[in-house]
Amino acid sequence: MPTQMSDLIVMVVKQAGDVRIHTCVSSFSDGNIANATHIVESRNRLVLIDGQFLAPCAKAFRAYADSLRKPIDRLYLSHRHPDHWFGLGAAFRDVPVHALAETLTFIQEHGEESRRDHWKLGGLISEHVVVPKEVASPGQETIDGVRYVLDRVTETETDFHLTVGLPDLGVYFAQDLLYSGTHLYLTSHLGHWIQVLQALLVSEYELFLPGHGLPADKNEVARNIEYLSAARQAIGDGLTGAAFKDFLLRRYPERKCPGIFDIYLPRLFGGASEY
Ligand SMILES: [Zn+2]
Repeated sequence: MPTQMSDLIVMVVKQAGDVRIHTCVSSFSDGNIANATHIVESRNRLVLIDGQFLAPCAKAFRAYADSLRKPIDRLYLSHRHPDHWFGLGAAFRDVPVHALAETLTFIQEHGEESRRDHWKLGGLISEHVVVPKEVASPGQETIDGVRYVLDRVTETETDFHLTVGLPDLGVYFAQDLLYSGTHLYLTSHLGHWIQVLQALLVSEYELFLPGHGLPADKNEVARNIEYLSAARQAIGDGLTGAAFKDFLLRRYPERKCPGIFDIYLPRLFGGASEY
């Protein structure tokens, strides 16, 4: 169970000309999963990536954004998993949220059901569901002088995932395509996920911002590929449930946030609902 943890790790990870990239990461301990959300600060505006999970973390992320004293132009929501959008209702109800059409539809149709499904977290989750209103489509847009490249990635950690690249800065917001220093949330799409990460390894991007954990480089992208390959092999060898978890815990003792196993194992091996 996550515990109340409103202290975020806050860092400036890159500064280039007028642009600063900020990262805010929630707790790595007590069942939390180190949710990472980000801010692109340009001359006049802020663009945010994802909205945190627990309400106290979302409020702390918002307070940090407000401390920069620039208007929030928009928030890009990467995908439909609750740990990325539950926080929107707690702290970002006034902010334009942009998401893939599939993500928007999912939250519209299942958001409230998903929120109620997390009743055990009590006051740690928001009472409000924010349905994104703006559709983010693959392509380029320039916001406050910064070039953004949006992409729609299918069948990896989730069915539809939005990524945001800043090619002129070498920065790529991979969100849940990449778990930095933590155990990955595994799905049935490991083969395609590996291919997507391999393409990133030969891209011109240098700084990779994950959805969980600390800012990363290509070495961590390669380590994620290795983890996915080992997991795929283990599944091929017939490991399931507790034995599968034990295998990954032993093989990757350095990775944090084992709480993720309890979230995905019933879905990967037990046919539990996707949310
Ligand atoms: Zn996530």
